[in-house]
Amino acid sequence: MTVEAHSMSQFNQPLSGNEMPRFAGQASMFRLPVQESAEGLDVAIVGVPLDIGTSNRNGTRYGPRQIRSESVLVRPYGMATRAAPFDSFQVADTGDVALNPYSLEKSIGIIEAHYDQLLEFDVRPVSLGGDHTIALPILRALARKHGPLGLVHVDAHADVNDEMFGEQITHGTIFRRAIEEGLVDPRRMVQIGLRATGYAADDFDWARNQGVQVVQAEECWHASLSPLMDEVRARLGADRPTYLSFDIDGLDPSVAPGTGTPEPGGLTGAQGLEIIRGCFGLDLIGCDLVEVSPPYDTTGNTALLAANLVFEMLCSLPGCVRR
Ligand code: MN
Ligand code: MN
Repeated sequence: MTVEAHSMSQFNQPLSGNEMPRFAGQASMFRLPVQESAEGLDVAIVGVPLDIGTSNRNGTRYGPRQIRSESVLVRPYGMATRAAPFDSFQVADTGDVALNPYSLEKSIGIIEAHYDQLLEFDVRPVSLGGDHTIALPILRALARKHGPLGLVHVDAHADVNDEMFGEQITHGTIFRRAIEEGLVDPRRMVQIGLRATGYAADDFDWARNQGVQVVQAEECWHASLSPLMDEVRARLGADRPTYLSFDIDGLDPSVAPGTGTPEPGGLTGAQGLEIIRGCFGLDLIGCDLVEVSPPYDTTGNTALLAANLVFEMLCSLPGCVRR
């Protein structure tokens, strides 16, 4: 698309690499305008730089900034999907949530209040993590607005521990809390990519026993995930509110090494794309991309992949134009 065609759009456009070199200018997400309020937006990109909910390697507090930095290479049109999200929605980068780096509990309250305020507007938040703990306060705010949600959860881990070190809320307990609190309907929930080692079979079976569809990584190996996503869309329903939570460690460490709890035998980059593209047709009311840890991302490729996956999320939001 030409620069001229861009300027004719009614919506915010990413700053083109032909107007300002990609390595220069303000490093907002997708080189979009930055605005604090969600007023007038269809989609708000939000950074949530939390890493005090992690159990192993830290560093996800640097995730939002690094994903934004690598997002400068992402162009505005999806060549495979023919999706043009920036001609479909008004999107802006609404900056970061001002967390308390000394208190996980207070930070969770801050995140919840931040999203409550965002959701006073008719906006779909797309969040950059941050560790996976951020999903719980986001789901609380979204469920208050929309009622119980469907959930597509991509991860190496089930994140349904009852507690960790006696704590009820950590990056490994959030989806048990979300089900217990009625934020997510387990019959409309799928977990994809779970694998590796645990403590007992119940690590994955607890969710199964609640009615969650659990698709372990081995079931995905050497296969296209498009048929699975056809099933997922049928199960979750086209017109009921659904959230997509994508933990980058769902993908194999060979493609996404920059994360805190990597596990071997994960999904490929292409399978990650198939999952997100397969969400087109669901009523996605929000998405997150979590657990990118730049200190362990020596090439920057994990953050670059994350930026591309976030672009694909925009392309899968309902009403995204294809042409
Ligand atoms: Mn997780
Ligand atoms: Mn994980």
